Amino acid sequence: MDRRGKGSFSKKADIVVIGAGIVGVTLAIELKQRYSDCSVMLLEKEPFAGFHASGRNSGILHAGFYYTADSLKARFTRDGNILWRDYCREKGLRINESGKLVVAISEKDLVGLDELCLRGERNGVPLHYLTAKEAQEIEPRVITYGYALYSPTTASIDPREVVATKIRDAVNFGIDIQYGCKFLLPGSSGREIITSHGKYEVGYLVNAAGLYADRIALQYGFSDSYRILPFKGLYIYATKRPFKLHTNIYPVPDMSKPFLGAHFTLTVDGHVTIGPTAIPAFWREHYNGVSRFKAGEFFEIVRREWDLFRRNTFGFRDLAFEEIKKYRKGYMVKEAAAMLRGSETLGFRKRGHPGIRAQLLNVKTGQLEMDFKYEGDDRSFHVLNAVSPAFTCAIPFSKYLADRIQQLIK
Ligand SMILES: Cc1cc2nc3c(=O)[nH]c(=O)nc-3n(C[C@H](O)[C@H](O)[C@H](O)COP(=O)(O)OP(=O)(O)OC[C@H]3O[C@@H](n4cnc5c(N)ncnc54)[C@H](O)[C@@H]3O)c2cc1C
Repeated sequence: MDRRGKGSFSKKADIVVIGAGIVGVTLAIELKQRYSDCSVMLLEKEPFAGFHASGRNSGILHAGFYYTADSLKARFTRDGNILWRDYCREKGLRINESGKLVVAISEKDLVGLDELCLRGERNGVPLHYLTAKEAQEIEPRVITYGYALYSPTTASIDPREVVATKIRDAVNFGIDIQYGCKFLLPGSSGREIITSHGKYEVGYLVNAAGLYADRIALQYGFSDSYRILPFKGLYIYATKRPFKLHTNIYPVPDMSKPFLGAHFTLTVDGHVTIGPTAIPAFWREHYNGVSRFKAGEFFEIVRREWDLFRRNTFGFRDLAFEEIKKYRKGYMVKEAAAMLRGSETLGFRKRGHPGIRAQLLNVKTGQLEMDFKYEGDDRSFHVLNAVSPAFTCAIPFSKYLADRIQQLIK
């Protein structure tokens, strides 16, 4: 690795990681542990870590039964679930180990339940196939068509608390974290970058920039086939607690899509939420109104979405019609009420922080990428499609990515 210094740089580091989301911070720590004599810097454009997806998700530590056994997601979700639960206990972080019921809304979901059960078995994930009566012993108000699946290892954590703790670990490992520092473009020499804080000399660049990962990768000659398609996840919070919810409740997802369907989440502090939606967003950080609007992104994304809508590629038109209805709180509550008796009495009125999924679209095949992707060479490495459940996966995923980086810079 090139460690030569030059006077004209405002800063220099052997390894620079862009993005202080959960993937960036865990990967920076992993690299620092492997290259202890190298300086590692973490750049974050926002004022604090976990500002985007890592601090705006459901906070669920998934168990690992949604994904086919040959996927990276399957392996890393199963292992990540165990590692995060150990980490939270070790650090004294809040964790709600209340499991999850996956319910059948109608007869056609029974095929999906069987498939999930098979995936769970193949992935080595504990999972119980229950009758409706057995499911009601766990959650007396649950509604399911004949059968349900129970995942005992699903848990919820506070994602912001976990990110903040990992950031403290990173500082203790000697990682230099620069907040409010935006990566702008690669410099001319190939060993420098231009940031909002000036020109930095960099030995190796790692891009874990979430919603902007494809843009940065393109600047290094990668992500030729991929662009981020942002999907907005809205949540609504129950404002009343007329009864206690005992577990998380999810529908059987459409397994051709990377979304799990709006569900009831039991947060670490016992609150109940419904969400998230998967509404097509019109720009990358399109959280509310016109906040963070960027005209260039808007035209590019809307053009792409219009094309997918027109062709109904991967059922995008049907998805868009269905999801847009969920802007109405009443619609979301009504849909979710099919899984939980009496849920309307919980008073779902308050909106939570929306989150945006940095979902990768393969522009050559017109399909959404279902698994994690990465590309790189001996100069730079780009983490693409770190979508759900990348939070759960972050620890083993980072080890895997660090192995790939180690091979590239040998
Ligand atoms: C609604 C929703 C619900 C989800 N639920 C779950 C769940 O229950 N369980 C689970 O495991 N996963 C869940 N996920 C997925 C999970 O949150 C993400 O996969 C994960 O947080 C991705 O982490 P990241 O570090 O890649 O991205 P991010 O958290 O988005 O971090 C990327 C960082 O890069 C920074 N950045 C971008 N561009 C630049 C630049 N030019 N210069 C400097 N910094 C830059 C950003 O500011 C950001 O902080 C959910 C996601 C969403 C959106």
